[in-house]
Amino acid sequence: MSIFPRISLKPEVTEYLRSVFLNKEVLAAVGHQEAEQRFQKLLLCLSHPPSHTCVRASTHLAPLEEIREKLRGELKKACSSPAEEIQIVTHPRVDDVLLLPVDGPRPVTQLSSEVVVGAQCGSAVLRGAHVFPPGIIACPKFMKVGDVVSVSFDLEGRCTRGAFSFQGNKVFVGNGVAEIDRSSIFCADEPPRGVGVRMVEPLYRSPSFDGILPSLVFLQNLPSVVVGHVLGPQPGERILDMCAAPGGKTCHIAALMGDQGEVVALDRIRNKVDQIRQNAQLLHLQSIKAYCFNSVRAVSDDPSQETEGPPFPPESFDRVLLDAPCSSLGQRPSMSCTWSLKETCSYPPLQRKLFHAAVQLVKKGGVLVYSTCTVTLAENEEQVAWALKTFPYLTLQPQEPHIGAEGMLGAGLSAEQLRLLQRFRPELSWEQTDTTAPLACRADRDTIGFFIAKFLKI
Ligand code: SAM
Repeated sequence: MSIFPRISLKPEVTEYLRSVFLNKEVLAAVGHQEAEQRFQKLLLCLSHPPSHTCVRASTHLAPLEEIREKLRGELKKACSSPAEEIQIVTHPRVDDVLLLPVDGPRPVTQLSSEVVVGAQCGSAVLRGAHVFPPGIIACPKFMKVGDVVSVSFDLEGRCTRGAFSFQGNKVFVGNGVAEIDRSSIFCADEPPRGVGVRMVEPLYRSPSFDGILPSLVFLQNLPSVVVGHVLGPQPGERILDMCAAPGGKTCHIAALMGDQGEVVALDRIRNKVDQIRQNAQLLHLQSIKAYCFNSVRAVSDDPSQETEGPPFPPESFDRVLLDAPCSSLGQRPSMSCTWSLKETCSYPPLQRKLFHAAVQLVKKGGVLVYSTCTVTLAENEEQVAWALKTFPYLTLQPQEPHIGAEGMLGAGLSAEQLRLLQRFRPELSWEQTDTTAPLACRADRDTIGFFIAKFLKI
């Protein structure tokens, strides 16, 4: 039985999502009861972390086995009980991935002394992080270094910064030891550096990767790693990543090319572009060129004018990745989303504008991959149906590896088209009791919600 509530959404958003997951085509295929059960499972699994932590290994810098052994050594050193066996498994179909099981939910007793953290911080703690001072919203009046405290997550964003306690809607995520006192958190001019609360009894135990082999391992959800492989970049090619920050997929693409060729990374938010550059530097990748640019305008009006940076003439790239801005409703763990229906449904027009630019920028014979981390039809299968109609010279391609489910019914796509799409659907597998299945099999099913479509421009 789960101790966490389902993800909390505005009622209008819940009803909208129900209409997506119980659409006519789905009801005709699986019936009302099964469709409703899947939908309820989705709401429940979104608030829980996946059953494994996935890291992408920098196999452009060292062999996978060497990275695995180094990681085992580093995690053992950082572990509170070094005798504990750390399980790190490789993935049979994704050759630069390492998986570590997550242990939880574990029985942990809640204490009376409590630190309250914000949504982002709470989600990070559920995935193995410690608490850093900027995430702390409230803490006991006399909290000092060494105090043992419980950590809870403010579900609705209602706790006042600097409060001593909070009685609102919150969820307990584990116990830890304060490494900083109250006055340093709230009275200093700048938030202090370092760990605020070191989690010693987390509800979900998985390693903290803070400072662990920063150039050799990169925390990345499994479907995001799959995207890089599906794009299939080759050494020497010129690739465009249109919505690239913080650069997880950009760096993966460059690594898959052995850093030979050019990866152009665009993002419209300036300080996020700095993150792309920092990640490229950390992973020793020279082939990445990052620019702050609105990708809707990435196609040059004057195709004769060649410039190094954006905008670019049409057909400038061998492959284009459009990892589109989206409603992010597949992210896990996500305990609440305060968005209105209007906000939730606001992305398709922007995604289509970006898609128009993507189609123009990819060469004839080139590959275009479209991906999102959301679960709606409007941002996924319906965008594919629109793209195939609007650009008749695009064809759907098989994906390798294909480890997620096929596309979801409801957008009028044929069975053959749906088979070519890859949708990661945690609701189809979550809470299956077969804990004896190999970790990689469980990891394939228990992911964030994610969608990938691969097109060829003919
Ligand atoms: N691909 C990234 C990765 O794997 O690290 C994640 C990308 S995130 C899903 C979407 C990104 O699109 C955000 O960083 C956002 O700033 C950016 N974005 C949104 N609208 C954009 C636009 N018009 N042009 C360029 N980037 C945009």
